[in-house]
Amino acid sequence: MIILKIGGSALTIKDANKPTIDEINLDRIVKEISVYNQDMIIVHGAGSYGHIYATEYSIGSKIENEEDNTAKIEGFCKTQSSVQLLNNIFCSKLQELGVPAIGLQASSFITTLDKRIDNCNLDVIKEYLKKGFVPVLYGDPVLDHNDEIKYAILSGDQIITYLAEKLNPNKVILSSDVDGIYTDNPKTNPNAKLIDIVTKDTKLSLTDDKNQADITGGMAGKVNELLNLAKYGIESQIINAEKPGNIELAVSGQKVKGTIIK
Ligand code: ADP
Repeated sequence: MIILKIGGSALTIKDANKPTIDEINLDRIVKEISVYNQDMIIVHGAGSYGHIYATEYSIGSKIENEEDNTAKIEGFCKTQSSVQLLNNIFCSKLQELGVPAIGLQASSFITTLDKRIDNCNLDVIKEYLKKGFVPVLYGDPVLDHNDEIKYAILSGDQIITYLAEKLNPNKVILSSDVDGIYTDNPKTNPNAKLIDIVTKDTKLSLTDDKNQADITGGMAGKVNELLNLAKYGIESQIINAEKPGNIELAVSGQKVKGTIIK
């Protein structure tokens, strides 16, 4: 079984000021996925379908007062509808190509405590897999048991590590819009170098120490999640979904260039 993440930055135009699909990438990526030859769970990011509302309503920050709580509930609903729409579009495209993609909404069966999953009914996912479906989960707002925050944004990256830890897949592949983990953000530093293998001993930091890799934003969260997973002996890889052919290689069990986290 393979767990495959399609990054929100590859599926959507991430810095758009309204939810916007990257149509060219989406069409190519679903075509590449459709050649899969093994059991598969897909998790996709939310990109501009999620972060616009999540940021506007500060979901996951401390509830200030009743008025703030009401606003956050409104933001929760808007975010959830928006990411569900992206999931619908993604799953419909996969279904058109013969993939039995079944969208599963984290907000309806996963909760968190302090933003980490504390409750998830895996039976449903296992049963869908057993019956030959391809479960498709995605980053979603969820209910949090810490009464100070009440709501949290559950990232696709956390869903990946949770499922990998519980379901023990043969492969965990995360795709994004860059080739892997670099010594610095490759989008802003043309001299950044791709790191082939990252372990807990790799010097990674947010400082400007030139001997250490500088990782920020979404990639920093990803690396933290995947290093956590490595503690359980599960290896993962970050690859570039924007390079044609990479996803096809990944879902058909072949080697792809990227960063291995172990
Ligand atoms: P996704 O939405 O695909 O899951 P994110 O946008 O959250 O991914 O994170 C990927 C982004 O992280 C890249 O587009 C890149 O600009 C940024 N980034 C920052 N630092 C690094 C780094 N050291 N190596 C690779 N990417 C980095």
